[in-house]
Amino acid sequence: ASPGTKRYNITLLPGDGIGPEVVSIAKNVLQQAGSLEGVEFSFREMPIGGAALDLVGVPLPEETISAAKESDAVLLGAIGGYKWDNNEKHLRPEKGLLQLRAGLKVFANLRPATVLPQLVDASTLKREVAEGVDLMVVRELTGGIYFGEPRGIKINENGEEVGFNTEVYGAHEIDRIARVAFETARKRRGKLCSVDKANVLEASVLWRKRVTALAAEYPDVELSHMYVDNAAMQLVRDPKQFDTIVTNNIFGDILSDEASMITGSIGMLPSASLSDSGPGLFEPIHGSAPDIAGQDKANPLATILSAAMLLRYGLGEEKAAKRIEDAVLVALNKGFRTGDIYSAGNKLVGCKEMGEEVLKSVDSQV
Ligand code: ATP
Ligand code: MG
Repeated sequence: ASPGTKRYNITLLPGDGIGPEVVSIAKNVLQQAGSLEGVEFSFREMPIGGAALDLVGVPLPEETISAAKESDAVLLGAIGGYKWDNNEKHLRPEKGLLQLRAGLKVFANLRPATVLPQLVDASTLKREVAEGVDLMVVRELTGGIYFGEPRGIKINENGEEVGFNTEVYGAHEIDRIARVAFETARKRRGKLCSVDKANVLEASVLWRKRVTALAAEYPDVELSHMYVDNAAMQLVRDPKQFDTIVTNNIFGDILSDEASMITGSIGMLPSASLSDSGPGLFEPIHGSAPDIAGQDKANPLATILSAAMLLRYGLGEEKAAKRIEDAVLVALNKGFRTGDIYSAGNKLVGCKEMGEEVLKSVDSQV
C-alpha cells in the first residue's frame, strides 16, 4: 500500500434471510470504491440474529458486540425469519438488533428518502410531486416517550385500568441530535426543518428552544420549525420543500416511514445510526425478506447505498461515497432492475448481476 493510504476496520453483520446476499455485494463495492480513493478496509464478519442463535444460542454474542465497538463502522444486513418467530422474547433475532443499537449508543438515525429520476414511477405520489424529492429524516433514537419513566398499566382511583407513558428529553439529548442534524444539513443543501408539537407538549417546547439556540452556531444553515401534524401533511403535499428534517423518536418513527413510501421502493433505501464518538451502524431499512431469501432476487442497492452512507457519515470519506452513489445511478441508467423496482422495457436481473453492474460502474463515472 502507498504511504497515503488510509485504513479502516469494518465489522460486517450479514444476519439472516437476504442479509448475507446483499452484504457480500456491498462489501465488494465498498472495497472497490475505497481502493480508487486511497482507502483500505479490513473486514471482520460476525454473527447476529437468527444466525447467531443457531450458532451460539444468543442473538447478539459477546464477541460480536465487542468486535463492533472496536471497529470504525458496522455494516448490517437484516435480521429475523420464520424459523425463530416463535422463540421467547429474549431469544428473538430482533432482540440482537436492539441490543446492538443500545451497545453502540447510536442516538441519531438518518434516513434519506430520494426519488431517483429513473424510479419516479415507483413513487406513491403523482409524478410532478415526486420528481426531484431528496430529503433526509434525522430521528432521535434512544430517548423520548419510548423510554421515559414512569410508564406502565395500573388501576386508577376509580378502579379503571389506565396505560401511561412519559416523554422526557434532557437538554443534552436535544442538543446532540440537533448538532447531528445541523451538520447533516450542512453537507446537504443547508436547510433544516425541526418538527415538534410545541403547541401541546412540554418536551417539544424545550426541543424548540434548544434547537433555536443552537442555530446561532450554524449561520450557514437555514432553520425552520413545523408542527408534526402539518409536517405529515406537507410530506405528501409538497415533499420537495424539505432538505433535512430533525425530530424526536416517535415523530421520527412515523415521518421516516411516511417519507420512505414517497419513494415507493423498499429495496432502495439505506440508513445510518450514529453515536457521539463510537462507530456508526449502517443498514438497509428493509427486513430479511424471508420470502425471497436464497433466490438471488433481492435488491442489493439499499445495502450498497448504506455502504455509501458509511463512507460519508461514518468515516468522512465523501469522494468514495459519491463514487458508490454515482455507480448506482449508472447501473440504473443502463436499465438494470431487480424485481422490486422492475417496470416494462427494463432489464430484469438478480441480486448478483445488479451487484456486478454497480461494481463495474464504480470506476466509470456518470
Ligand atoms: P422486518 O420485520 O424484518 O422489517 P418486514 O416484514 O417489514 O420485515 P421485509 O423483510 O422488509 O418485511 O420485506 C417486506 C417485503 O418487501 C417482502 O415481500 C420482501 O420480499 C420485500 N423486500 C424487502 N427487501 C427487499 C429487497 N432488498 N429486494 C427486494 N424485495 C425486498
Ligand atoms: Mg419491517
